[in-house]
Amino acid sequence: MTVDANKETLGFQAEVKQLLHLMIHSLYSNKEIFLRELISNASDAADKLRFLSLSNADIMEGDGELKIRIEYDEDKKTVSITDNGIGMNREDVINHLGTIAKSGTSDFLKNLTGDQRKDSQLIGQFGVGFYSAFVVADKVEVFTRKAGESAENGVHWTSEGEGEFTVEQVDRSQRGTTIVLHLREGEEEFADGWKLRSIVSKYSDHISLPIEMVKNEPPAVSEESEEESKEDSKADKAPEFEVVNKATALWTRSRNEISDDEYKEFYKHISHDFEDPISWTHNRVEGKQEYTSLLYIPKRAPFDLYQREASRGLKLYVQRVFIMDDAEQFMPMYLRFMKGILDSNDLPLNVSREILQSNKTVESIKGALTKRSLDMIKKLEPEEYKEFWKQFGQVLKEGPAEDYANKEKIAGLFRFASTNSGTSEQVVSLDDYLERMKEGQDKIYYISAENYNAAANSPHLEIFRKKGVEVLLMYDRIDEWMMGYLFDYKGKSFINIAKGDLDLGAIETEEDKKQQEEVEKSSEDLVKRLKEVLEAKVSEVKVSHRLTDSPACLVVGAYDMGAQMRQIMEAAGQKMPDSKPTMEINPTHPLMERLNGEVQEDRFEELAQIVFDQAALSEGRSLDDPAAYVKRINKLLMETIG
Ligand code: ADP
Repeated sequence: MTVDANKETLGFQAEVKQLLHLMIHSLYSNKEIFLRELISNASDAADKLRFLSLSNADIMEGDGELKIRIEYDEDKKTVSITDNGIGMNREDVINHLGTIAKSGTSDFLKNLTGDQRKDSQLIGQFGVGFYSAFVVADKVEVFTRKAGESAENGVHWTSEGEGEFTVEQVDRSQRGTTIVLHLREGEEEFADGWKLRSIVSKYSDHISLPIEMVKNEPPAVSEESEEESKEDSKADKAPEFEVVNKATALWTRSRNEISDDEYKEFYKHISHDFEDPISWTHNRVEGKQEYTSLLYIPKRAPFDLYQREASRGLKLYVQRVFIMDDAEQFMPMYLRFMKGILDSNDLPLNVSREILQSNKTVESIKGALTKRSLDMIKKLEPEEYKEFWKQFGQVLKEGPAEDYANKEKIAGLFRFASTNSGTSEQVVSLDDYLERMKEGQDKIYYISAENYNAAANSPHLEIFRKKGVEVLLMYDRIDEWMMGYLFDYKGKSFINIAKGDLDLGAIETEEDKKQQEEVEKSSEDLVKRLKEVLEAKVSEVKVSHRLTDSPACLVVGAYDMGAQMRQIMEAAGQKMPDSKPTMEINPTHPLMERLNGEVQEDRFEELAQIVFDQAALSEGRSLDDPAAYVKRINKLLMETIG
């Protein structure tokens, strides 16, 4: 049967070794999930075969009754899971059971801390899959034959889950895959019918494929000794199998018949996630278009949320037949964390990715699912929302640029830090902001900076603090870019308070204005002198409306790139055109008064340079010539000490 020349011993990819080690040590309190993972793979294998049979009926080899069978042997301490799905050839086996193909895997593994509790959460995000077999088994064998290939092209894979595995060619008349787990010492409890049934009903009831197990024999009532009766039953009759799960596609059942636990387990099956989802919505749409969707919001961001090539999208079915994983055309990018299934009655069974790309039905379903997702997000409880925002807020912020039509809906989901909340936590919604607006205020004020502290302590906030006007503090990398697409919310426009001339509108009283004019007049000379000495650095010097406590601040033009965006571009190696900021001064500040009184020109210039550099620093900008700044400051310090 075995040809030795065909037997190869191969090493696992380094990442697999790491993953195996980690899995065995972090899943110990949740061992039973190995069965869910293997059943999930078996069910996927059946889905893939059924899909292929749509265009090639022969591939079923006359055996179209797809199912999964679980067997066990108490004496040998084995559990096996058999499917008659698509199966694997030698190349598939080596690729799928020896390497991990997901992009970003090594980055993910670098994040592991060695703390088993934390790591087990991370591994949940990664998805455990086939390798979880080694949590309960110290040897795993796979017998498989790909649909459509001849019996002598079967493959036998074995591994003890350490560094290597073997593959050899074997005869296998049966199509599909059998996975045999040789249970570790101490894990014998899994070679038990009741135990296995209870795990199936807990985790895999929703699998639409029948899962079979040997029929429970009634307890022996005869006088014979137990030994004999066992012998008899084995000899007399072939074992009878029965279906041990519900075996109907979960989404075809009606909502009120499905328990929360079933929804949660179904989520884990389709998402390969380890944790429960935070929310889901299950809808049947009838009328012009007919489809059923079941959408989930995960609890935690997957490790590859920002990987361009990461898989995303829904599992697509047409009339209950599985068509493809990762159908990305039904969800916008900024909702790429959403998981779920879509079962359409209108799309053709032979639908391909190319057809999906330019299809009216797809477009309109995408529109409806987007709205449904946004509504579901909106309905999250406050505590859930906080966590949701931490996990996915940054991705949602891509929304206004991508989805103009839903801009306002998306913006309504945003949360920011603000001068009102006093913490870096992003908890203020735009509606909260609108509610707290001052009488006469008709703008939404915000500032964006490199980090929270730079935003929260910016001199630009001074006038707003004094007037009690709330300012949103933005410090995520994406913010300034995002605000380029978000001009207003519920009729109120956004104003970046660090840019351009500050129009305070009705917040500024007549008295303020009069005072301002007076100060401007009396400072004409100072402004002129400053402009002369700082000519190389500033485009203009002006008397400020916004400062109350600081001597000066820098303002960029209304259409210039903000400091945050500028730094991102520069860090990415882009040369930015030089645009000089305006320096605004607060002439009533003691330092400015002192400067105004300085008659010695070279000293005036020294001090002016310091004022400029400090204004830049307090905004989180970097100085062109930091050493010169330090030298000037030190000179001043020496004078005071001396
Ligand atoms: P995932 O299912 O997340 O891709 P796994 O490690 O569980 O990761 O499985 C790796 C791959 O091995 C699967 O994607 C599939 O191609 C293949 N595979 C696993 N189990 C089976 C099976 N029972 N039948 C056919 N292919 C399988």
